[in-house]
Amino acid sequence: MAKITEAEIRSVLSTITSPEGGNIIERGMVQGLVVRDGHVGFSIEVDPAQGEKLEPMRKAAESAVTNLPGVLSVTAVLTAHKGPGATAPAQRAAATPTQRPGSGKALVPGVKHIVAIASGKGGVGKSTTATNLALAFTTLGLKVGLLDADIYGPSQPRLMGLSGRPESRDGKTLEPKQSFGVKVMSMGFLIEEDTPMIWRGPMVMSAITQLLREVNWGELDILVCDLPPGTGDAQLTMAQSVPLSGAVIVSTPQDIALLDAKKGLNMFRKVDVPVLGLIENMSYFSCPNCGHRTDIFAHGGAQREAARFGVDFLGEIPLDIKIRETSDDGRPIVASEPTSPHSLAYGEIARKIWAKLDATPQRAAPRIVLQ
Ligand code: ADP
Repeated sequence: MAKITEAEIRSVLSTITSPEGGNIIERGMVQGLVVRDGHVGFSIEVDPAQGEKLEPMRKAAESAVTNLPGVLSVTAVLTAHKGPGATAPAQRAAATPTQRPGSGKALVPGVKHIVAIASGKGGVGKSTTATNLALAFTTLGLKVGLLDADIYGPSQPRLMGLSGRPESRDGKTLEPKQSFGVKVMSMGFLIEEDTPMIWRGPMVMSAITQLLREVNWGELDILVCDLPPGTGDAQLTMAQSVPLSGAVIVSTPQDIALLDAKKGLNMFRKVDVPVLGLIENMSYFSCPNCGHRTDIFAHGGAQREAARFGVDFLGEIPLDIKIRETSDDGRPIVASEPTSPHSLAYGEIARKIWAKLDATPQRAAPRIVLQ
């Protein structure tokens, strides 16, 4: 198939008229153009006040690029242009037509609940927890997807033992890969491993929207989203642009991590996403030889903080070499040793999360107020 170039995309986009006259390329409205193996994403910077009215222009731009030979999928989003005071992520996100305030539009049809697994900082075991929880949900008889939204350091392909490019049957949507009965999509399938990627604000949004909307998820009870660590722009974008049923925060017992966990908690509260609870990972040390349990300094911190912040404590997972080894080998413990105490602990946490979700109706995208 012919390889599509940026120049060809810019050329076809120059046929799209700007509301202020001229075309959207010459007016510099097209930003953050990304082309990866036939998948295209870009943003069109517009006046946020005009956001909704410009939806036909966005659609026209998207279809023009879709019709080019060699293009597999296109995600075009409207973002607020860089006028004074118009660049806050909340405002950029608000201008995106897919999340029109109060529209009640489900972003991913067929997916009942989307749950974010988040952490205040990296290295606390967020991805490992997301993987094992996704697998634990399958043991409850649920149809499960796993979206690796950690576009800065996608690790789900390795954790789930997957590699290679995703296929597209219709030339428009990508087919998720399957592992241990879970449908998986990750930026790691689309970019070379170890390729440093510099993501600018609008690109983050394009990438995440594409991983959500341009993937044939089919019918799912739950889509587990492994968020990038931290509480920066990418997390906020995700929290705002995806109709999350709730978020789960993973933390280690160390107080410093808990300080970060609090930031995560506050971020979700700010955007009106329910925090389903806190998980303490690497909670205590489980001796691989004798199974003896040794509590780590500050063990129990997450439970205390959860109570203080009025969120549920969902459970604790020990620091155990088996959890790391099985993850590194691409056969996560819940799949490879389903009856081990750790797998049962993940199962118990999954059960608690599902009980909460089942009691709440499917959510629409959170309401975002333009100021
Ligand atoms: P994050 O997504 O928060 O950056 P990862 O899930 O990538 O963290 O985990 C970081 C490292 O810690 C990985 O090597 C992983 O195998 C290991 N790890 C995570 N949880 C545990 C655990 N409970 N016991 C042992 N090792 C763990």
